[in-house]
Amino acid sequence: MRAELTIDLDAIAENWRALDAQSTGWTETGAVVKADAYGLGAARVAPALARAGAKSFFVALAEEGAALREALGSRPEIYILGGYMPGDLEIVREHDLTPVLNSAEQVRGFAADAPGTGCAVQLDSGMNRLGIEGLELPALMLELNALRPKLVISHLACAEEPAHPLNAMQLGVFQTLALGFPGIRRSLAATGGILLGPAWHFELTRPGIGLYGGLPFNEARPVVGLSLPVIQIRDVAPGEIVGYGGSWTATRPSRIATLSAGYADGLIRAMGGRARVFAGDTPCPLAGRVSMDLLTVDVTDLDAVPERLEVLGPHQGIDALAEAAGTIGHEVLTALGSRYARVYKGGDN
Ligand SMILES: *Cc1c(COP(=O)(O)O)cnc(C)c1O
Repeated sequence: MRAELTIDLDAIAENWRALDAQSTGWTETGAVVKADAYGLGAARVAPALARAGAKSFFVALAEEGAALREALGSRPEIYILGGYMPGDLEIVREHDLTPVLNSAEQVRGFAADAPGTGCAVQLDSGMNRLGIEGLELPALMLELNALRPKLVISHLACAEEPAHPLNAMQLGVFQTLALGFPGIRRSLAATGGILLGPAWHFELTRPGIGLYGGLPFNEARPVVGLSLPVIQIRDVAPGEIVGYGGSWTATRPSRIATLSAGYADGLIRAMGGRARVFAGDTPCPLAGRVSMDLLTVDVTDLDAVPERLEVLGPHQGIDALAEAAGTIGHEVLTALGSRYARVYKGGDN
């Protein structure tokens, strides 16, 4: 019996439609499927999103784009957020990928290598991660105009905090910089930006985490379930310890269940002593540290220990688990390992 990760493709499609419904008809809703669709499997997730209506997809790396092209066929647009790296020419051409040029260097490199090939441009509106800065633009306009980008984008640093002053500031900077690209489609909003409201939507949005059921999209339908088989149950006397470092000590006669998954499977070690798993509706605390391949759980209060305990599901979503591990839902998802039996539900719409 293996630990089982279920991925609900219908829920992903529904989350895409719900985010799409937040904007008006002239805004297109794209889909971010970088890092293998946040760890959930782009080969299954992206076609489900395409059937729901997504036409523009975003990945981080050219290699991810090549694999995505195989999964999606020739029609959808595939943007490479990491941009154009030396050596990417062949893969970009062969798989019809659209690099998002992120710096003066990338613009010049791409203009020299691939003058007739489609591209997009990222402008820095204040995050200072990727993107061409306003002051660099005048010296690049000749090359940029010749490349005729399909899209100009920027990215918000604090969209998860609606009241953060940087949101309005970045919006203003992006609007101003985009004036240098008349008639070219604009994109600023990821999941958080979509929820900020119509001023942030422009012609194309780029939701990622919201599709996969994570915050800040409160109303998202949960997408993943994870249940772990119980491989041993033992009784532990008061004063005995459980696990590495002896960090948990029984204070009463206790029953400990050992489950088959650990930090090598993305159950982040920092959640030891803080997270819970569920037996039906009943929460059971982790007892002691998370090991590489195993978890130990205090099941003393259960009348009967089921064959499997639930880590992710209706009682505990990715954000609740993330909080126990001191991280965010994005990291919980992308950490999920390759050893789970993966079961896809739905997706035949
Ligand atoms: C990852 C990413 C997104 C998607 O962000 P979410 O917060 O997951 O919706 C959008 N745009 C860029 C540039 C990104 O790097």
